[in-house]
Amino acid sequence: LEAKEEFSHKTLAMDAMRPRHSDPALTVLTQDSMTVEDVEAIVNETTFSGYPVVVSRESKRLVGFVLRRDLIISIENARKKQDGIVSSSVIYFTDHSPPLPPSSPSTLKLRSILDLSPFTVTDQTPMEIVVDIFRKLGLRQCLVTHNGKLLGIITKKDVLKHIAQMANQDPDSILFN
Ligand code: ADP
Repeated sequence: LEAKEEFSHKTLAMDAMRPRHSDPALTVLTQDSMTVEDVEAIVNETTFSGYPVVVSRESKRLVGFVLRRDLIISIENARKKQDGIVSSSVIYFTDHSPPLPPSSPSTLKLRSILDLSPFTVTDQTPMEIVVDIFRKLGLRQCLVTHNGKLLGIITKKDVLKHIAQMANQDPDSILFN
């Protein structure tokens, strides 16, 4: 994402973010209610580079962002080296283990791999500004919120695709290219 031409189209973050209207919902993790096997299933069924972590699916409050490769390594390690970690162990990204029945298996704390302040913009942010932020901060992805609730994600590739799409739709660029 080189800083060559200005991006001067009047599109907004919501125009470039995923999921699109017809797509399945964003794949998220909850901060303290998913088990090792729940998270393993998500990692195996999707190929995303990372997953937003939310307080709950209902609240959609953003807690942080976790990279897929860090999740895979940490769970693999815990299964091998940490006593009592099984498929039904609850994973938590919070400071303290959630309250669970006494008979529950050991819990797995993964707070150390959580990025607690991922970059976010609102859905109404002009893409001109988003492109600038990606360039200047060298972002890989940026999360999109609406009224404080997590709405979507924009990756560097999404930004590049959006720029290309806008350039193609521009009648001038069609005439002159
Ligand atoms: P890239 O855009 O470099 O291929 P990803 O593999 O992470 O990176 O993302 C692929 C596509 O899926 C992108 O369009 C992105 O916006 C979207 N995406 C990324 N993470 C998620 C997620 N957790 N849930 C739903 N869609 C996602």
